[in-house]
Amino acid sequence: MNRQDQHFSNVIVESLVFLDAVDPPRWKGSFRLSAEHPAVDILIFNIRGRFQAVPARCPHEGYELTHCELINENTLVCPAHGQHTDLSASKFKVRQHDGQFLLSIDDNTIAGEGSETILQLREEIDKLRLANLKQQRQIHVITESMDAMLSESEQQKAKLRDRANQQQGLSRFVDRIMDTIDDLLFVIGSDGQIRRLNTAVERELGFNEAELLGIGIDSLLSPDERQALAGRLPALPWHVQSALFETVRLSGYYAGEHQLLGKNRDASKAIYWLKSSLLHSEQGKLEGAVVTALNITEFKNREIRLRLSAKVFDNSSEAIFITDPQGTILEVNTAFCVMTGYARSEVLGQNPRMLKSKLHDQVFYRRLWQSLLTKGEWKGEIWDRRKNGEFCPMLLSINAVTDKSGQLTHYVAISTDISHQKQTEQELKQLAYYDVLTSIPNRFLFKDRFEHEISLAQRNNTRLALFFLDLDRFKNVNDTLGHWAGDSLLQIVAARIQSCLRKSDTVARMGGDEFTIILPGLSGITDVTELARKLVNAMTEPVQINEHTVFVGVSIGIAIFPDDGDDFDTLTKHADTAMYAAKAKGRGIFQYFEAGMNEAAHQRLSLENALRLAIEREEFQLYYQPKADNTLSRVTGAEALIRWIRPGFGMIPPDRFIAIAEETALIIPLGKWILKTAFLQAREWAEQRPGFRIAINLSPLQLLSEDFIAILDDILAETRADPEAIELEVTEGLVMHDIDKASERLQQIRARGIRIAMDDFGTGYSSLSYLQKLPIQTLKIDRSFIVAYSDDPDSKEAAFIKTIVSLGQVLNMKVVAEGVETEPQLRLLQSYGCHEIQGYYLSPPLLADEFRKRWLDCGIIG
Ligand code: C2E
Ligand code: CA
Ligand code: CA
Repeated sequence: MNRQDQHFSNVIVESLVFLDAVDPPRWKGSFRLSAEHPAVDILIFNIRGRFQAVPARCPHEGYELTHCELINENTLVCPAHGQHTDLSASKFKVRQHDGQFLLSIDDNTIAGEGSETILQLREEIDKLRLANLKQQRQIHVITESMDAMLSESEQQKAKLRDRANQQQGLSRFVDRIMDTIDDLLFVIGSDGQIRRLNTAVERELGFNEAELLGIGIDSLLSPDERQALAGRLPALPWHVQSALFETVRLSGYYAGEHQLLGKNRDASKAIYWLKSSLLHSEQGKLEGAVVTALNITEFKNREIRLRLSAKVFDNSSEAIFITDPQGTILEVNTAFCVMTGYARSEVLGQNPRMLKSKLHDQVFYRRLWQSLLTKGEWKGEIWDRRKNGEFCPMLLSINAVTDKSGQLTHYVAISTDISHQKQTEQELKQLAYYDVLTSIPNRFLFKDRFEHEISLAQRNNTRLALFFLDLDRFKNVNDTLGHWAGDSLLQIVAARIQSCLRKSDTVARMGGDEFTIILPGLSGITDVTELARKLVNAMTEPVQINEHTVFVGVSIGIAIFPDDGDDFDTLTKHADTAMYAAKAKGRGIFQYFEAGMNEAAHQRLSLENALRLAIEREEFQLYYQPKADNTLSRVTGAEALIRWIRPGFGMIPPDRFIAIAEETALIIPLGKWILKTAFLQAREWAEQRPGFRIAINLSPLQLLSEDFIAILDDILAETRADPEAIELEVTEGLVMHDIDKASERLQQIRARGIRIAMDDFGTGYSSLSYLQKLPIQTLKIDRSFIVAYSDDPDSKEAAFIKTIVSLGQVLNMKVVAEGVETEPQLRLLQSYGCHEIQGYYLSPPLLADEFRKRWLDCGIIG
């Protein structure tokens, strides 16, 4: 140890911190001399390889020297008071040893003055530090409390600002809300004055805000409504400024329908739903009320409309039901219940399917739905079923109902019961398609069915037969027993025909006494022959009409499809032709159509045409057949009988053309010619032989024609014939046709002095009472009775003749027998006292010239 070392006591520097941020870098450390000494802070510098140390605080005021500048490489300057501390003169010597700083403190320093200084310094430093600490604490307290105060006031301010903002926002928010409301909104004070309102008020009533603020809300009500409101208030101890507000005040709430007066008069017509409730301040003080008014004009109108619709819906005579898109019934009206027989509760929630009649096929319903889905509607006739099972035809119209967006919401179905209409339709159909008299199909339905059957036969490759039936002697019954009997006969015949048929066969009445039958689905013709025979037999059975037993018969013509034709017209024509052939063959038989028959039919047609021409060309001649008294001693008159001299054909007898002339009404012009010719002849011969009379045959059609009497008068005038020289022969049929008209005509004829003979007597069914009523002077016994008599006075035929003769005598008529051919016949008639005789026995009909020569010029029967 050197000397120096002996002067220093080494101290270990503890808590050493290297400060490299200052220049020159330095360490800060502290050391303790002993346990009772406080630690001393020092700064250690490395000055050119040597460590120097000084106290870390300025001895003057204890200022921290840690960061202080070092000037002249070894002088530290205190920035506070400029104290210079010389490092080289430092009392601390520093060595670095084993990574530690060892401090050598001069023993003198410790023992002498120096140690005192250090202690003083230390104390001072401690004091200063304490004072500083205290001050710092105070400052801290002050700043803290000031901070607290400041932040509190800031908070307060922010709170206030927030509140203000909030309130402003709220107010604006309320305004905005008020304005978005469509309802009119008023805030009124307890004096009823308007304090606040929304834009809806301005918009609807036409006032601006300034015009309304401060005015009483009651003034927006009509005087009547104001009075009504006030009238409902009880007596109040204060002055009522606003009846509306007081009403609200009383019950806390008010609602009612009102009209509000607008600036624009039109607005007055609007109806509002006024609602008002009280408004209190936060403190609970009553401030006024809020009044809202909802424009319900549209609702009201709609309500009225709805009420009307409901009334219409329910009172409609048409059945209405409403369904949802799935078809579930939502509502029905009374008419629906009446029509279907279901109660409302039975159908709500059901599907209209429940009314289905099963009369329509699937195609029908598919079409219905297709129309509904594509067009939104369907209309048509539908058959539904009532609750009691009855079918019910109706006219149904279904419409889809959509909302504004076009979405299907409902179906509305309206139906009218057309069962009554259907019934009349049915009746009309019955009239149109069925014969009124016999109730069997008429010609129209027949044609329909026939065409249907033909198409079936074509498809199935089968045959069908068409029967054409014509009654024999029907005309007789009709003419003699009258229409009534004829009608009954037709009904009986229709029933008889039907009883012979199969279900698949159809019988129709074509008119008059003509019937037709379709026999469909034939494989051969044996069935046809069998049915024809059956029909003929059935018709020959006598028919009882009241007390009369009449015998009719039937002639049937048959045409077969496809053999005789393949359409309705051809087949009916051929069946008709065959029927005529049957008639010509002798009646009461059936006849299949044969190819040659067309020829006959053709002939008939050409005969008709030829007859027409013949009348124009006057190809006729009158023959006259004499009548004489029963002793044949005197010719009393003649019957005019027509002949057609047809060029190329010779003489055609009347039996072959009179019927056609009657059917075609050609008998009218022909009859005129006959009358005129015969009248002229009568005049000539009556002049030559007074009392001579010509008998002329009259066709019923001719006599009953409207202008017959006028024609008769014309011809009488023109020919200047003596009516006394003329006798008109009529048949029983004519008389029975229309007894009143016939009787009237006969009276008119008789009134002109012309005599009337009843021709062909005994073949009809005329009763005695008719004969008595009619102005008849002559009875002509039908030729058939005379012909039938051979030579036996006790025979039935003789008795018949006797009866007729004595009947004529009883009735005071002249009795004439025609067709007398033999002597026995003449003798028999003479024995009965028959007045006159006509027939080949006396003479055949002769041409006028011949007649005159043979019977008039000589005047004697030769
Ligand atoms: P009708 O009035 O009964 O006429 C008598 C028919 O008997 C006549 O036939 C006549 O020639 C025929 N006759 C007369 N005597 C005999 C006889 O002894 N034996 C036979 N077998 N026949 C005899 P016609 O001339 O052929 O006339 C037939 C029918 O034609 C008439 O029957 C009459 O109904 C009708 N007719 C004839 N001429 C006319 C006429 O000018 N007008 C009208 N509307 N009908 C007429
Ligand atoms: Ca006659
Ligand atoms: Ca006759």
